Amino acid sequence: MNDCVFCQIAAGKLPSQKVYEDEDVLAFYDVRPVAPVHVLVVPRVHRSSILEATPEELGRLFDRARQLARGLDQGRGFRLVVNTGDNGGQTVPHLHVHVLAGRAMTWPPG
Ligand code: 5GP
Ligand code: ZN
Repeated sequence: MNDCVFCQIAAGKLPSQKVYEDEDVLAFYDVRPVAPVHVLVVPRVHRSSILEATPEELGRLFDRARQLARGLDQGRGFRLVVNTGDNGGQTVPHLHVHVLAGRAMTWPPG
């Protein structure tokens, strides 16, 4: 997936502000944050959306996302978001979990 921006970030071909990486996932700050803490957690392997990942891949991805969130939320709570498809507001077709924290979130989302 040479033209995938998150594959390029995972391969180190595009810069990012990394906060965490291991053999399965990479986490880095979103370039257009919508909260004081806005981190994206992505699998290294290309999966175009949550619909394409295996249950095991999702398990690892969400486990890392919750661990990162717990370290970033100062004990005040967080939101994990996975936008999917056009109506879901997905703009980058590589699976990612948004970790949002640092302010009170509203519900329902816009
Ligand atoms: P989506 O709308 O697909 O759920 O979220 C994609 C997110 O990726 C957006 O919040 C957008 O700001 C972020 N994003 C897009 N391109 C880049 C990039 O090159 N680097 C970083 N760090 N974030 C990006
Ligand atoms: Zn990709």
